[in-house]
Amino acid sequence: MNIILLGPPGAGKGTQAQRLFDRHGLRQLSTGDMLRAAVKAETPVGLQAKAVMAAGELVSDAIVSALIGDELDALGPGQGAIFDGYPRTAPQADALDAILAERGLRLDHVIELDVDEDALVERITGRFTCAACGKGYHDRFEQPVVAGTCDKCGGHDFKRRPDDNELTVRTRMAEYRAKTAPILPIYEARGIVSHIDGMAPIDTVTAAIEAIIAAG
Ligand code: ADP
Ligand code: ADP
Ligand code: ZN
Repeated sequence: MNIILLGPPGAGKGTQAQRLFDRHGLRQLSTGDMLRAAVKAETPVGLQAKAVMAAGELVSDAIVSALIGDELDALGPGQGAIFDGYPRTAPQADALDAILAERGLRLDHVIELDVDEDALVERITGRFTCAACGKGYHDRFEQPVVAGTCDKCGGHDFKRRPDDNELTVRTRMAEYRAKTAPILPIYEARGIVSHIDGMAPIDTVTAAIEAIIAAG
């Protein structure tokens, strides 16, 4: 099963992708995570992407599509994927079609998380992750059970993204509206889009996604 999770920054894509991995073994393919790893490792891609990401603008289509192709090739046979934060533009949607077709794969679902933009700033500015395992948290909405200790791996080190500030978030939302939202009709026309209320509590959103997966 291959699924695209679509929604603006802070909609809950990463949170839900982590849960789908834990429950179904579906691999989270996050271009944001791949790019952050490249920035950290100071690869040529990372050096090129760093300033673009810091500004909240989009990295070039060619770069992210190449990253996605490589990660798909690293999956085990028959392993499903969750595309998180990709595709984000019409050219990326076309590239994904080609990337999947070349590998004899298909897209089963596009799940759109409907969210209220005003709530996203609070979600993003309160977001942090475990530095060791990457588990996502929120200052208000998803705190570790024991303060300062990761629920998943017991780590004590947490980090926040430099682009998770109010100013950059506004640019990222504008990019989403202008370039990403317009790709939905491509998938609507194929009858594979489901809309979920992304403002519901995290567990409720997970249950709604589970229902879509269970239906086939
Ligand atoms: P995205 O990957 O779409 O940018 P995340 O999954 O990282 O978004 O979620 C952004 C922040 O909001 C995180 O701190 C996460 O814990 C929190 N969050 C995610 N889903 C919900 C939800 N349904 N209700 C409240 N907070 C949420
Ligand atoms: P969020 O889901 O919170 O918006 P991501 O982690 O998906 O954040 O992306 C962080 C940044 O990485 C984006 O603002 C953009 O600069 C870059 N990026 C990630 N995925 C893509 C993509 N598919 N196309 C272009 N740029 C991307
Ligand atoms: Zn952890």
